[in-house]
Amino acid sequence: MSQTTTTAAVQSACPECDASVSFSRAPLNGQVTRCSDCRAELEVTSVSPLTLELAPEVEEDWGE
Ligand SMILES: [Zn+2]
Repeated sequence: MSQTTTTAAVQSACPECDASVSFSRAPLNGQVTRCSDCRAELEVTSVSPLTLELAPEVEEDWGE
């Protein structure tokens, strides 16, 4: 029950502007975050190694 976590914060680079994007805890595959620098939406496509890709622009037009 005393497993040591080697990485408290996980960090990667924004594929859009190369700014550092950090996660306060280990991200999950498919998690979407936002670059604090260019505001691009980034999707975690792999967690080991941590890979970020621009999230596809989804138009929130669901029709009615
Ligand atoms: Zn960025």
